[in-house]
This record gives sequence, C-alpha cells and structure tokens, in this order.
Amino acid sequence: MKKLYLIGNQKMNMTYSELEPYFEKLTEIASHSTNVVGVCVPYVYINLAKYMLDGSKVLFGAENMHYEDKGAFTGEISAQMLNDFGCDLVIIGHSERRQYFAETDEQVNLKVKKALETGITPIVCFGETLEEREQGLTHTVIERQLTGALADISEEDMGRLIFAYEPVWAIGTGVSATPEQAEEICLFAKKLLKEQYMVNDCIMLYGGSLKPSNAQEILSKPSINGGLIGGACLKVSDFEQLINTKVE
Ligand code: PEP
Repeated sequence: MKKLYLIGNQKMNMTYSELEPYFEKLTEIASHSTNVVGVCVPYVYINLAKYMLDGSKVLFGAENMHYEDKGAFTGEISAQMLNDFGCDLVIIGHSERRQYFAETDEQVNLKVKKALETGITPIVCFGETLEEREQGLTHTVIERQLTGALADISEEDMGRLIFAYEPVWAIGTGVSATPEQAEEICLFAKKLLKEQYMVNDCIMLYGGSLKPSNAQEILSKPSINGGLIGGACLKVSDFEQLINTKVE
C-alpha cells in the first residue's frame, strides 16, 4: 500500500467555534489512518492547533510566513514565531499568494530557506495558469518556479521539502486536472528535481479540486504521493474520506 500525504489548506474559512470539534474529529480520524495527515490553518488558530493536535498523529502548520527573522513588517509572522507554537509545516508560494499578494519566485526561495533553517517543513507550491497551459508554457513556467524556489538550497535540505503541483485553473474551481495531466506534470517535476538537484525521491502532492469522487484515481498515479486539499478539507467528513484513500 502506498503511504499517502493528505494535507488540508484551510485558507481564510473556519472560525474558532468550528475548529474545536473539527480538530477533535481529525485527531480521531488520523489515529486510525496509515496515511500521513496534516492541516494548515490561519495564524490565529495555530495556538489552538498546538493545544489540540500536539501529541496526535495530525501534523499542523501555517499557510504562509515571512522570510525575515524580525523587524518592521506590520502584520507579518516569522518562521521562529511559527516554531514557537510547534508548527510542523508551512505552505510556501501558494498561487493565491502569488496572484493576490504579488509573491515572487525570489521571495518563495527566501521563505523556503528560512523555513528549513528553522526546522519547519515547507510545502513548496507551483503550477501554471490556464492561459499559460493554453499557450504551451506549462513546463517552462514550472521549471522557472521550481528553480527559482530552490536556488541555493543544499542537496541535504532538498530531501526535507514537500512539493505541491497545483494548476491554478484547478484550484477552487471544482474542475481538477485529469489523473493523466496531474501525473504528467508531477513526473516532469520529479525528473527535473532528480536531474538538477540530485533529489532521488520526494513527496509530490497534487492540489486542485481534489475531492472524494476523484481522489482514488488521481492519488493512485505513480508520481503522486498525496494531496494538498482546499475546499474538501473544510468538511471533516469529506476530509475523512480523502484521508482514508487507499492505493496500491
Ligand atoms: C489549494 O488551494 O491548495 C487547493 C488545492 O484548493 P482546492 O482543493 O479548493 O482546489
């Protein structure tokens, strides 16, 4: 059986009163699962996650962070602050950060390096827009994003990263990539990581409208090690079905 990584990205959705029962249920679901379960939450709920998930099988983390250690960056959160609250994970370079907050490949790289230095596992997101795909630019864009994100990272540290291929056109749209499209890009990314960075094996997630009805087919593809899940992680019963996915 392939060990899958199922990691939720809550974005700006759930509130305190919803999260308490959610974390409780998630802890119970994960305790019966052979897959790896994680959830990334808004900053203000990391303390609650620490309180409720520490010591359980659920990994938790943040949806973003700043790359500087400290300073005059009003509204920002540092890697050390995340570390103080026991974060295992941090999502870096999500397409919504790139699109709405003008995050660049260079900033993504600085964040990835800072997370690694602090001992937090970065989930490095990459993926093309619909326009880029239609123009035949998918591979070029992905190569640019990956080489940008990974500049000056040691071979040893490479092995500590989680990657997430998230085609922008599939995020939150209800239209996922086909299993073949997802596999093609995850394989392309793995080959690039092997050829350029000597990464022999890595955790490669697919993200983009992953849900119980399409998970089995997508997650059974050989180059895909799990999913980064937005919408479907918000309802714990849907997330549970995803967590319980079993593939050979
Ligand atoms: C995401 O934003 O990381 C994501 C995969 O969202 P959704 O599952 O809602 O497409």
